[in-house]
Amino acid sequence: MNKKIFRWLIAPILGAAFIWCCVHFYLSRETYVPLTEQENPPPVAPAAVVPVEELFPHEITPKSTLSSSLRKLEVPSQVIHQIVEAAKPVGDLTKVKAGMRFQIVKTPDPNSEVVGFKFRFSAIEMLEIRKLNGTWVAEKIVEPTETRVVTFSGNVQVSLWESAEQAKMDPYLIAELAEIFAFEVDFAREVRANDEWHLSVEEKLVRGQHYAWGSILEAQFINAGEPHDAILFRMNGEKLGYFTPEGKSLRRMFLKSPIKFGRISSRFQKARFHPILKISRPHLGVDYAAPAGTPIRAVGSGVIKQAAWSGGGGKTIRIRHNSTYETAYKHLSRFADGIRPGANVQQGQTIGYVGNTGLSTAPHLHFEFYIAGRYVDPLSQKFPSADPVPPELMKQFQSEAAILRKSRTPAKAETAPQ
Ligand SMILES: [Zn+2]
Repeated sequence: MNKKIFRWLIAPILGAAFIWCCVHFYLSRETYVPLTEQENPPPVAPAAVVPVEELFPHEITPKSTLSSSLRKLEVPSQVIHQIVEAAKPVGDLTKVKAGMRFQIVKTPDPNSEVVGFKFRFSAIEMLEIRKLNGTWVAEKIVEPTETRVVTFSGNVQVSLWESAEQAKMDPYLIAELAEIFAFEVDFAREVRANDEWHLSVEEKLVRGQHYAWGSILEAQFINAGEPHDAILFRMNGEKLGYFTPEGKSLRRMFLKSPIKFGRISSRFQKARFHPILKISRPHLGVDYAAPAGTPIRAVGSGVIKQAAWSGGGGKTIRIRHNSTYETAYKHLSRFADGIRPGANVQQGQTIGYVGNTGLSTAPHLHFEFYIAGRYVDPLSQKFPSADPVPPELMKQFQSEAAILRKSRTPAKAETAPQ
């Protein structure tokens, strides 16, 4: 009787549940797309995940060294000396940092002699030291990594950050996306509700588990109905930059904003009532309201002309970009390390931090732009683009671009490359 119940009732239910699980598992994997034209990408190895804490139960605690940590675990000083020596050809154990995890291998007998160590340098690097016939032998083990391409899409409702959260995407990637389009879109003031974005990014895996993000391969940002496309072009592993499908560079001579995410609180005006001086005075720059300490970046590469206190401007930086262009950044709380007159700065480099020094009522950045020594409104300038894809590489670029764009889920307002 029991056997009958099993055959007619329980077995079909178990069978159906099994099929449901398989289907569910299959469907939950569909967001991953292959990088190249490969029809069947190699499947990611099934993950047998053992927590790091279990594999490497010990940790170098803050303010301690490898020696002090090992001595606390009753490893004889002589053994510590021997393993540090043995490790020298493959890794310097005297320089390990707090937070590194490790494992000690002991013999199972009552003497429990120490016969091995495993030091986890990073998610993919490990140093193994074993006692073989009385001598310590060290070996560096690098875990093989795999790369796959993951795509994400989002729709802005409240903010760009919130849209990343909605898309269950690492906020690091939305910052990278904003970086790619920093020349096209001013993320401090131009993001609108219903703006859409899309990106394909390399994900690095170790034993089937997320380890790190690689490069964003292609991205799209639809700002107020206008699509902006970016495609990464690499030659022999070296990044040549992001280009439009037509091969135009997304880089310009100047970034659209010296602050990544801030709000414009006052625009360039020929006449304005000054809130402190109580007189009408021109406002020959753009103010960005941002919390004190927000990093300020050089909008273009150049040489620091001034980094000093400058009257009502408080702590001020002035950069000379070339014989035509200069920019100034005022009311800073402090300068970044190495920022002094004569220092070279790269576009996007952090030069200082938002403050409230000089004639200022609240933390903000006052940003000025000069062309041939005269103040201009940076928000109304159109700056020249960097070099496009070289003509001899255009064919290669377009075929790579076509593969990348084919892999994405169709977004609105898409234009196919010629
Ligand atoms: Zn101002």
